[in-house]
This record gives sequence, structure tokens and C-alpha cells, in this order.
Amino acid sequence: MRNGESHNEKGQSGITATALFGLCPRCGAKGVWAGPAALAGQCAACGLDIERFAPKGRTLYLVVLPVTILLMLAALKLDDVVRLPVWALIAFWGTGVPLAVIGALRFAKSAVLLARLEKEGLI
Ligand SMILES: [Zn+2]
Repeated sequence: MRNGESHNEKGQSGITATALFGLCPRCGAKGVWAGPAALAGQCAACGLDIERFAPKGRTLYLVVLPVTILLMLAALKLDDVVRLPVWALIAFWGTGVPLAVIGALRFAKSAVLLARLEKEGLI
């Protein structure tokens, strides 16, 4: 087997640990994320084939669409409550929107990945 088999004693990481810290669901090593919201091809430590179980394509619209609608409603509500200057709106939404979308995608991808791995009996 691969050298990562020894990492199994570290235990499994949950959805939050995988989403926030990029911990492998099987061995707990870092490196599940290749980009801000892009899963890596495989775990560098245990060789888990992450790409095979990663959610792809249209299924992620189910996450992005509600988040986008919520952000739009929040922007409208914020505009009703406070009249912020344009530079503050650009700064706030320019950082808030990417963080919200990336965060939602990471949690959704982690949840699907863990569910698929558990179904296959790999974690
Ligand atoms: Zn691993």
C-alpha cells in the first residue's frame, strides 16, 4: 500500500475540517484544495482519489444560485438600512461576495465528497 496508510490513525476529519482547513477526510493531512474552491486531484499523503468523488457540473448550481439570491437580497436590505458611500460598497461586496461563494462551495463540495466517500466505504 501507499505510505499514507499510516495516517489512518489520525482519524477522519469532518465537513468543517475539510472545508475550512483542507484536511483529507481519510488521513487528516492538509492539501484537499488545489484552489480557493477547487478540489485537488488526489491526497498527497494517502493517495485518496479525490477527483473521482468530487461533485462537478450543474449540481453546484444548487449551491451557487441560492447564495447569489441571498447576497442580492442582503445588498438590497443593506441599501435600505444604511446609505454607504460607493467606495465602501465596493470594498464590502468586493470581498464579501467571493468569500461567501467560495465558502458555500467549499462546504457543499466537502459535504458531497464525504458522503460519497462514506458510501463507498473509504472513510
Ligand atoms: Zn489523505
